[in-house]
Amino acid sequence: MRSLGGWLELAEPAWTRRRHPSVIGPRFGFPMAQRMQISAEKRAPAWPDGARSAVCFTFDLDAEEVWLVDEEGAAERPAVLSQGTYGPRVALPLILGILARHGVRGTFFVPGRVAERHPASVAAILEAGHEIAHHGYSHRSPATLAPDEERRELEAGLEALAGRGVVATGYRAPGWDVSPRTIDLVAELGFAYSSNLMDDIAPYVHAGAGIVELPVHWTLDDAPHFWFSPSTWTKAIASAAHVAGLWKEEADGIARLGGLCVYTCHPQIIGRPGRLGVLEAAIAAAVDQKDRWVATAGEVAAWVKRSSR
Ligand SMILES: [Zn+2]
Repeated sequence: MRSLGGWLELAEPAWTRRRHPSVIGPRFGFPMAQRMQISAEKRAPAWPDGARSAVCFTFDLDAEEVWLVDEEGAAERPAVLSQGTYGPRVALPLILGILARHGVRGTFFVPGRVAERHPASVAAILEAGHEIAHHGYSHRSPATLAPDEERRELEAGLEALAGRGVVATGYRAPGWDVSPRTIDLVAELGFAYSSNLMDDIAPYVHAGAGIVELPVHWTLDDAPHFWFSPSTWTKAIASAAHVAGLWKEEADGIARLGGLCVYTCHPQIIGRPGRLGVLEAAIAAAVDQKDRWVATAGEVAAWVKRSSR
């Protein structure tokens, strides 16, 4: 049991960790009204420069790798792979332009094999002042790998990025699908943060490993709304307006609770012409709200780590 601001006594969650001190709301199982009351009345100063919440714009530059894993025989199917190629070739420059227009720096999670195949994209991201972080070597989920394979993927990804001048401090697993070993492994390899889990709306530090977690959710990902696979034809593609509404609801909700809003976009998905406006609207809204701190994932993780000491 532990005390949270003197309000509640809670059992330690199964996934043992130390909560970020800035957000002291209770854990799961409490009515939302009670949570919001505590968040509003008992929250300590949370974010730098008087901000009341934070926002990260993150981009997973999967390119062809996601198709090579997800689609049977994709290596011999140029049309299937071309869906991924659209990301670095067309979407990335458009997204970099939007970020520049609003003076926002983002975080790009790049698989090692994508960095090797598209070195000019890595160079363009770095030149524009954005962060690049680790997203596997191939796009295979760690949860599907043997322990030694998972380690090799991480090391190969680090090597591929280092070869292009990137020192990655953050790790996002392909599909966010970490294994039970992942957090300890990334700590051992010197990473500072993970952005994979969905058990909070505020960052926290994994006990023992010392890795900062920047929580995500499918709602603020573009793929669940727009992903279409030619192998199934089972899913309708959502309209941009529908997703814009969902994103605004979730972002405003997280802001009200003083949390961290992590958008997860994929250039090949959000970068379609009809959808870029959804991204731009989300960026403009975040920048317009002066009480929201817009930062890279690495900056947020560094701040959480510093203030948790
Ligand atoms: Zn990915």
